[in-house]
Amino acid sequence: MKLFACATAIFAGAFIGTAALAQDLTVGVSWSNFQEERWKTDEAAIKAALDAAGAKYVSADAQSSSAKQLTDIENLIAQGVDALIVLGQDTQAVIPAVQAAADEEIPVIAYDRLIEDPRAFYLTFDNVEVGRMQARAVLAAAPEGNYVMIKGSPTDPNADFLRGGQQEVLKEAIDAGKIKIVGEAYTDGWLPANAQRNMEQILTEQGNKVDAVVASNDGTAGGVVAALTAQGMQGIPVSGQDGDHAALNRVAAGTQTVSVWKDARELGKAAGEIAVALAKGTKMEEIPGAVKFKTPGGNEMNAVFLSPLPVTKDNLAAVVDAGWITKDALCQGV
Ligand code: BGC
Repeated sequence: MKLFACATAIFAGAFIGTAALAQDLTVGVSWSNFQEERWKTDEAAIKAALDAAGAKYVSADAQSSSAKQLTDIENLIAQGVDALIVLGQDTQAVIPAVQAAADEEIPVIAYDRLIEDPRAFYLTFDNVEVGRMQARAVLAAAPEGNYVMIKGSPTDPNADFLRGGQQEVLKEAIDAGKIKIVGEAYTDGWLPANAQRNMEQILTEQGNKVDAVVASNDGTAGGVVAALTAQGMQGIPVSGQDGDHAALNRVAAGTQTVSVWKDARELGKAAGEIAVALAKGTKMEEIPGAVKFKTPGGNEMNAVFLSPLPVTKDNLAAVVDAGWITKDALCQGV
């Protein structure tokens, strides 16, 4: 087993985009909760891809408000965008914005999160697989005991995709009576403070008899670890996702078991390129790699799924080698 060791600095890789020129195009991006670390990386990659294509970037941040997201998208449409990339705050509430875009024949990419509307092109990672990877890593570290499930935002379909993947992996051990789910909670707005509050409450209810926590992203994992630390319980298995720098440091330090890494640079690059292609009239089904996806709401959507990678103490070098984080930044917490 090759463990990651903190030592000398390593180069950070550069992003290179290669789309066709599209001088007069403007692409609007509607963010739902831009304050979260990962979206800055997504944004840089989208901008780079648009830049490479000669297209302009405009954006707005809904600050976790589904109402603001609707007016944000109206404003982007009023600015004359040729395509929209939407990170939906609420899968249902955002549909009138997709309608407004469709009325103006503006293509929409449902970015990272599903929008229940087949007029949008769905571009994401395999979120069910992310959930499986989270549960697999936690189960390997805690094959028996009391489990807590800290889910994502109830208005984000990813929360239930993740939970579904987690359940697939845990089912056998649950049925065999080896593990028991003693607490489960959604995290409003994916906010770490809400995850921390939920975790504190579950710890109190359970008299701290908790052996592992399947947390659905790195932000919520941060809240969970804070709650565990307050009880002197840091170090029990905890999952996350996104490869946030703080989370990778927790993995290095042993207070988080896994962060499923989704290379947001790849997702952002694909979004920029697909937005330009759709704006230039390419049909959704002609996008390279597009597959048909049946949504929980029964819609059939054109979609592209990228692959995630679980990062544990054993393969931390993967994110350093990929230029995602420098060795120096990774060792801040060690
Ligand atoms: C994304 C995660 C992210 C979370 C909170 C989810 O939809 O897939 O990567 O951590 O939203 O922003």
